[in-house]
This record gives sequence, C-alpha cells and structure tokens, in this order.
Amino acid sequence: MMQEIQMVDLKNQYLKIKTQIDSGIQEVIDSTVFIKGGKVDEFQKNLENYLGVKHVIPVGNGTDALQISLMALGLKPGDEVITPTFTFIATAEVVALLGLTPVLVDVDYDTFNISIESLKRSITSKTKAIIPVHLFGQNAAMDQIMEIAHAHDLFVVEDACQSIGSVYTFAGGRKIHSGCMGDVGCTSFFPSKTLGCYGDGGAIFTNNDELAAKIRAIANHGMVVRYYHDFVGVNSRLDSIQAAVLDVKLKYLDEYIRARQKVANAYNTAFSKCGSLIVPGKNPQSTHAYHQYTLKLNGVDRNALQAHLKKKGVPSMVYYPVPLHMQKAYRSERYHEGAFPVAERLSASVLSLPMHTELTEEQTQYIINSVVEFL
Ligand SMILES: *Cc1c(COP(=O)(O)O)cnc(C)c1O
Repeated sequence: MMQEIQMVDLKNQYLKIKTQIDSGIQEVIDSTVFIKGGKVDEFQKNLENYLGVKHVIPVGNGTDALQISLMALGLKPGDEVITPTFTFIATAEVVALLGLTPVLVDVDYDTFNISIESLKRSITSKTKAIIPVHLFGQNAAMDQIMEIAHAHDLFVVEDACQSIGSVYTFAGGRKIHSGCMGDVGCTSFFPSKTLGCYGDGGAIFTNNDELAAKIRAIANHGMVVRYYHDFVGVNSRLDSIQAAVLDVKLKYLDEYIRARQKVANAYNTAFSKCGSLIVPGKNPQSTHAYHQYTLKLNGVDRNALQAHLKKKGVPSMVYYPVPLHMQKAYRSERYHEGAFPVAERLSASVLSLPMHTELTEEQTQYIINSVVEFL
C-alpha cells in the first residue's frame, strides 16, 4: 500500500540515515560539549567548504541570522531596507525591529523573486540595503541586484533561508552558491528547510573578514574578549546536537536537491500540459533547490481544488496567502491594496504541492493524477 503523503516527510528521511544521526547525537552527549566547539566547529568548516565561502557563522535560527546581519552593517534608524512583499514575514520583521524602515517592492510573476523594475523605482537617498529573498529555492536576479547595489552603494543581505545548495551563474560565468554572493547571506536550518536540523538553527555567510568578526561578536553578546562587550549584541547560537544532525545531512544535501528536482520535473512535465496551471518559472542563471513547488492557478477555484486534494489524501499549502504590505502589522500610509499587483495576484492564485526528498514515483504520480482529475 502507498504510504500517506505529507508536505514534508522527515520521518522516512531520518530512517535512512538513522545510524549516522544517532551516533552523531550520542557523540555530543558523550562529549558534553553542548554549546560551541566540537561538532559546531566541524559543521562550520564542512559548510564553508561545501559553499566555497570564507566564513560561516552558525546562529540560533534564520530570523536571528537576518537580524544579526543587519546589526553588523551599522545601519541607523530611518535607513531604508528594500525587501520583496511576497516572502515570509521574518525578512521584513527584523528590519522593523531594528528601527529601520522596510521598503517593500513587488516581485516577478514568473520566478516569484524580487522585481528588478520595482527595486529600481524604490531606491531613495535613504536606501542602505537590499534583502533579496531566493524564494522557494531559486536565486533572485543577482547579476542585476549586485549591479544596482554597486551603483548606489548599498549592502546586499541575501535571504537564503529557502535556497541553500542552489547555485547562481553570473553573466561572466562565475558560479556562486546561494547566500554567498552579497555582503552577507542568511540561512535557516528549521526542520522543514532543504537542509533542516531537529530543532532550530541558522547560519550567516560572508567573505568579508571584518564583517565576519563583527557578526560573530554580535551573535555572542557583542563580546570579542571574554566579558568585554564592544557592541550591543544578542545571544544566538547553534547547539552541538543540531550541528551533529546537520553535519550528517550536509553530506546528502546535493542528493536531496536532486530528489526534489526529480519530483519537480515530473510535476512540470505533467502540469505544463494543463492550460489552467502555470508551472514555476525558471531563471536560466540559477539552479532550483525546490524548497517548495508552487503552481499558479489560472481560473481554478483554489479552495475547491484544495478540498478535493484533501479528500484524496494529498496535502497542499498556500505560500503566502497575504503579501507583507497587506499584513495588519505592516500596513502603512505608504502602501494600499493594489500597490503591488503581482504579489497580490500571486497570493490569490498560488498553491504549493508536497515536495520532499522521500516522495516515491508512485506518490508523485498519484499527486499529479489527483490534481489533473479536478481540472
Ligand atoms: C524560514 C525562513 C526564515 C526564518 O527562518 P527561521 O529559522 O524560522 O527563523 C526567513 N526567511 C525565509 C524566506 C524563510 O523561509
């Protein structure tokens, strides 16, 4: 019998690597090095090698990674930080928390990523940074974003919380890992993320030595020398048990991404034949880690389709039902409904299907059939 289909199947993924995970966790317990050192250092080195980046700074979660990165840039209250309105709330939340001004911009209909036109229009004399979000696992248009950032002297903080493992090819042919292109990159190891641990975790990437030292200090109470605090900091760290899990799963990351791509290819082949479905657009300069597989519905009743899928035992989710500029906490004089038509249209029409490393061909086909029979 076919196993129950889940949006994300962490159980079966774990069972395949159980021996390694269990012994990694046991090793940490035996060593009693629960915070810093040991496994955290090992994982940090291995991730630096995998990404080809000079510094990985492990932190407590992806939201902290974004906050600490912005803190390290020395921005002042009132400085404007541009970020897309179609993303997870954390991206804008940390900007607002630091007293900076989140300036929201629209996204590209095909790729769901920050719209270059909207970005250009939103730059003012107060703009200090751009946070491109590599949404659903595909890198934003980094050639253009880096060019704009250089022209206006802006920092680029990549939100790579969904895109670790994907690679962007610059116009000159240079291939760089997601999160390692801007001044700083941030990722999350939340369990359901492409590289997920068994609790909370995150990391910051940078090639800038000075910034790395400052970020490391800020994540540790602003401390460079023990009990001497040079910056206002926070307490944010990856614990050793999570590092042990991540160190095992990092070895499988490319394989995991290939498994996701295989499912996405099957979905694409089937759904591109359906006039009422629009498959996710590909930026030819980026590989896609398919953290999510997100369709756009064209004249299909989303609620009815979701209800039908639920009856068939196929879960589905809407990422994200409300763009940030229409969220109660972020509504302002600046933005009104209709301000970002693409994001609003996407919020009304997107539907994400089950996507994980353990989907079998049988399950994938069953999901496809369940969608297609509704149309
Ligand atoms: C998951 C996620 C975050 C936050 O990560 P946490 O580890 O949950 O704090 C930030 N931005 C995006 C785009 C995410 O998907």
